[in-house]
Amino acid sequence: MNTYSRLPVSFVKGEGVWLWDNQGQRYLDALAGIAVCGLGHCHPKLTKALCEQAKRLIHTSNLYGIDNQEQLATRLATLSNMDNVFFCNSGAEANETAIKLARLYGHNNGIDLPTIIVMERSFHGRTMATLTASGNRRVQAGFEPLLTGFVRVPYNNLEAVTQVAVNNKNVVAILVEPYQGEGGVNIPQAHYLQDLRKICDQHGWLLMLDEVQCGIGRSGKWFAFQHSDIIPDVMTLAKGLGSGVAIGACLASGIAAEVFKPGNHASTFGGNPLACAAALTTLDVIAEDNLIEHAMNLGNLIRDRLKKQLADEAGVVQIRGQGLMMGIELSIPCGELVKKALEKKLLINVTSDRVVRLLPALVMQQSEAEQMVDAVCLLIKEFFSD
Ligand SMILES: *Cc1c(COP(=O)(O)O)cnc(C)c1O
Repeated sequence: MNTYSRLPVSFVKGEGVWLWDNQGQRYLDALAGIAVCGLGHCHPKLTKALCEQAKRLIHTSNLYGIDNQEQLATRLATLSNMDNVFFCNSGAEANETAIKLARLYGHNNGIDLPTIIVMERSFHGRTMATLTASGNRRVQAGFEPLLTGFVRVPYNNLEAVTQVAVNNKNVVAILVEPYQGEGGVNIPQAHYLQDLRKICDQHGWLLMLDEVQCGIGRSGKWFAFQHSDIIPDVMTLAKGLGSGVAIGACLASGIAAEVFKPGNHASTFGGNPLACAAALTTLDVIAEDNLIEHAMNLGNLIRDRLKKQLADEAGVVQIRGQGLMMGIELSIPCGELVKKALEKKLLINVTSDRVVRLLPALVMQQSEAEQMVDAVCLLIKEFFSD
C-alpha cells in the first residue's frame, strides 16, 4: 500500500556500518535501520546463530515451552533487575502490552476508567492505542475516534504531572520515553525519571518506560533508566533487541509482574525460537565486545566533533543526545537534507521537521564516526550557505 514515501534507493548487501545498493554503490549508514541494527549489518555471529537456529527449529507457538525464550527472559530480567517478560514482535505491540497491563492493574484496584499519563512529542507506535498515546497529531489525524483513558502533559515537566494527580483519581500509570526519539531526540533534565518514580510511588501508579529506541545499549547503558538510580514497573523494548529479526518485549517488575494471568494476553509469533536466538546473540555480542562502553565513549566523541565543526554555524540551534542517539536541531525545517545526504552516499534521518537524527550502529569504529561527522557537518554548512 501507499504508506511510505520511500527514497529512490534499494540496498542488497550490508557489512558493519556500510550498505551497498543494487547498482553496487556503497553508503555510510548513520541510521542502522532506525536504531535496529546495533551490531551493524550482517554481523557474522548473528548470521551464524540464525543459520544454525533455522536448521534446528523456527517456530512452535506459545502453546509449548520455548527454551530460547526462557533463556532470553532470564537474561533480560537479570540485565534490567526486573522480574518477567512478555514477548511480541514490535515496539507498538510491546507498548500495547504495557497499556493493557496498566488498565488491568487499574481494574484490579477498583478503578473502572483507568487513565495513563502520556507526554507531548512522544511516539509509541501506530496501532490505535499506541497512536492515541503518541503526542503527535500527524500520526492520529484521520484515525479518530481515538481511545479514551489517556491524559497528556508536556515532557520534562514534573509540575504538570503533579497537577494531574490533584485532579484525576483514575490515573494508573505514566508512559514515557526516557529519551524521546521521534519527537526530536529530547533529553530531559537530570533526575526526571527519579522524580517520576517518586510521584508514581506516592500515588500507586506504574512507571512504564518506552525504551524501544533508547534501550539495548544505545544510550551508553543496557537500558536508559540505568542512568538514573531507579527501576521501572514496566519497560518496553523492540528495535535493537533482535538486530533486525522482529521481536518486541514488555518487562515488568514487582507488583506489575503479577498483573497478567493466563488468557489475558498472547501473541502467535512472539518469542519464537528464531527471534529469541537473534536477541540472545545480540546481547552476547554487545556484552563480549563491550559495545555499551563503546557507545557511550563514541557518542561523546561524535558530539564533541559535531560541536567543534558547527561552532560558528548560526543555523544550528542545539547538538544533543546520549550515547549513540543524537540530534542536531536546526533553526529551519531541513527534511531535504535526507535526500542531499543520500546523494553523498550517507544515510541520515530528519525528525520533528528540523532535527537531524543520527542513530549509528553500536559497532561503528572511530574512523567511521569521524567520516560520518565530517560528512554531516559539510552537509549542514552547504545547506545554510545555499
Ligand atoms: C519505533 C518506536 C516505537 C514503535 O515500534 P514499531 O516496532 O515500529 O512498532 C515505539 N516507541 C518508540 C520510542 C519508538 O522509537
